[in-house]
Amino acid sequence: MPKILIILDGIGDLPCKELNNKTPLEAAKTKNLDFFAKNGCQGYVYPVSQKVAPESDVGVTALLGYDPYKYYTGRGPLEAVGAGLTLPIQSIALRANFATLINQILVDRRAGRTLTTKEAKELAEEINKKVKLTHEFTFKATIGHRGILLIKGQFSNNVSNVDPAYKKEGSFGIAKEEYETKMPECKPLDSKKLTKDTAEIINEFVKQSNKILTNHPINRKRIKNNLLPANFITLRDAGIELPKFPKKSNWAAVVGMPLEKGIAKLSGITILPFEYPEAKRDIKKQTKKSLKLEIKNSLKYIKKVEFKNYYIHIKQTDIPGHDGDPIQKKELIEYLDKKFFKKLRKIKDLEIVVTGDHSTPCKLKSHSKDPVPLLWFGKEKDNTERFTEKESKKGSLGALLGKDVLNKVNF
Ligand code: ZN
Ligand code: ZN
Repeated sequence: MPKILIILDGIGDLPCKELNNKTPLEAAKTKNLDFFAKNGCQGYVYPVSQKVAPESDVGVTALLGYDPYKYYTGRGPLEAVGAGLTLPIQSIALRANFATLINQILVDRRAGRTLTTKEAKELAEEINKKVKLTHEFTFKATIGHRGILLIKGQFSNNVSNVDPAYKKEGSFGIAKEEYETKMPECKPLDSKKLTKDTAEIINEFVKQSNKILTNHPINRKRIKNNLLPANFITLRDAGIELPKFPKKSNWAAVVGMPLEKGIAKLSGITILPFEYPEAKRDIKKQTKKSLKLEIKNSLKYIKKVEFKNYYIHIKQTDIPGHDGDPIQKKELIEYLDKKFFKKLRKIKDLEIVVTGDHSTPCKLKSHSKDPVPLLWFGKEKDNTERFTEKESKKGSLGALLGKDVLNKVNF
């Protein structure tokens, strides 16, 4: 009997006025998720703690059963591993975004979400060619506006993010509901020389890359076409070592993004091959297309039953939350219900757990501390009827921390 952990990225939400004060989960018609809710049991999860609005990295780490306070070493190295970069023993890795800076104001943290993978790869090539640092580095564009910076050498990870949306707290990146938009800068968070040198080389990269990107023909063309230029690299979540997760066995994952790939790989989970399509201009079309592919592959692999446990990560549900689009979030949930959960109902002897790595409320356009609903369709049953934020609070599983979920459901 395969057991499946389904993480719907950023699924938790708050009531939205566009949906008559319902959350997207409440407003969506979800016959099949309702079936699993009626025949299973529910609870609700604080992925990291009641006080933390987590990033996906810590949320997922916790849901896979690892205490983030014990194991987490920063997002950069996780993304680097997921993108296939080998991390030298002495190095620093940071998560990057192509963003838009106009008059020293960070106008858009994702360059309008319109950067194609092709454009990003070309811009990255130029950065690798023309930025000159005192240490060897690699800048890699991954999917859409996302990327990774890896610098070889001995560094400190105790430096601030060059990204105002996430605050650095220890090695955690904490999502901020509101943030300043003036050009961010990397600051040393202690007085050691190594930390100061680290901040300096990061700022040097940011400055030089900004100049190169601003003058690049791709960005001139983007401006001409009324698109935001991808002229600034934000950097966050510096890490200088890999987490030492105890390894899982007989687990497989269907994951498309470098971050989730990195976490799965370091957890000993077999990554089943499939790639998200390259990012094109239209983000809505893109989201639907990648979701379709994720569903198709997930079903194909689950049906083979080659592993005891599967981890399926649905990234797409997070995007409309960041973009403040509850209608799209509701539609994606309905699509998942019809194309994925309906088909799961037909597979015999299946056990599933459905939850999220954090909430991304549309009205906040950012991650929040709000708990996420948890549904377990397996051995127990309670009186809940729908998979929603409110209903899950009435469930028999009660409140849980992310790290305790897998234990609770015997995965
Ligand atoms: Zn997430
Ligand atoms: Zn997110």
